Amino acid sequence: MKPVNFEYMRPSDVVGALKLIASEAASAKIMAGNQSLGPMLNLRLVQPDLVVDITAIEEVRRFEDRSDEILIGACVTHADIEDGRVPDVTRGALPAVARGIAYRAVRNRGTIGGSLTHADPSADWHSLLAALGAKVVLRGPAGERTIAVEDYMLGALEADIRSGEMLVGVKVPKLGRNARWGYYKSCRKTGEFAHAIGAFLADPDRGVSRAVIGATESRPIVVANAANILGDGRARRLADNFDGQAVAKIVEAAGIADPLSRQTYVVALRRAIEQAQPQ
Ligand SMILES: Cc1cc2nc3c(=O)[nH]c(=O)nc-3n(C[C@H](O)[C@H](O)[C@H](O)COP(=O)(O)OP(=O)(O)OC[C@H]3O[C@@H](n4cnc5c(N)ncnc54)[C@H](O)[C@@H]3O)c2cc1C
Repeated sequence: MKPVNFEYMRPSDVVGALKLIASEAASAKIMAGNQSLGPMLNLRLVQPDLVVDITAIEEVRRFEDRSDEILIGACVTHADIEDGRVPDVTRGALPAVARGIAYRAVRNRGTIGGSLTHADPSADWHSLLAALGAKVVLRGPAGERTIAVEDYMLGALEADIRSGEMLVGVKVPKLGRNARWGYYKSCRKTGEFAHAIGAFLADPDRGVSRAVIGATESRPIVVANAANILGDGRARRLADNFDGQAVAKIVEAAGIADPLSRQTYVVALRRAIEQAQPQ
């Protein structure tokens, strides 16, 4: 099948993009890497009158290194992060996870903002960025707003994006010197979408300890205080204190009834925590 006919525009700044989206609010679609939008267009799951390609907008293709965080533009690609064109402030977490997304051709074009907005529960960035405590920045007719990554996904394929808005960037906090993280993706073959994801961050300098279970049928499950599942968090090998039963209860409370799936999530998180060694 082929897409319906649509107008195509490639503005050079965010103001221009927002004007175009506002002019066709009901039937305009933003295009970033086109890795998910392309198939949706071809299958006519979306039938826009106007496609606004945002990849020529310098502001969303760059990064901004700030004192305690880095702002990554929405159109920064997975490959930009993998290859270190964006400085790593996460002690290796961002490039390592980028490297496991799909295969190189997809990573060359797929963007961090497109991935977050497409809101596929199996995608990698939601889980890792939620564990890191990252936030998305949206701009639209009512100005700018910033929300936590885990709140941006409302459910499968549904992001908290309002009419006329676009995602302009992702704020990722700089991790402390003693931070340790782990990420485990259960999938059939390397580079595929995940069946279960575990992501973990302990950053004692900032008093942060977060665990995330992802690739559920909806938004990731965030344990904002991982002490609840890890005791006091002082053990050198954190996984020694991992409370699998407590995690299974959290997963069940999130609506995952099947015991086998529950166990897969518990194991994914345990493996992520096992990887979180001091560096
Ligand atoms: C074969 C294949 C394998 C893949 N495997 C994985 C995987 O293992 N892990 C993984 O995480 N991902 C995977 N992906 C997804 C891929 O990495 C992209 O992240 C994803 O397709 C969306 O990014 P994109 O830039 O292509 O967005 P697009 O396809 O351009 O857009 C996706 C959606 O987001 C909207 N959008 C895009 N950018 C913005 C913005 N800035 N503001 C508002 N709305 C916006 C679009 O309107 C559209 O609705 C895979 C994709 C393919 C094709």
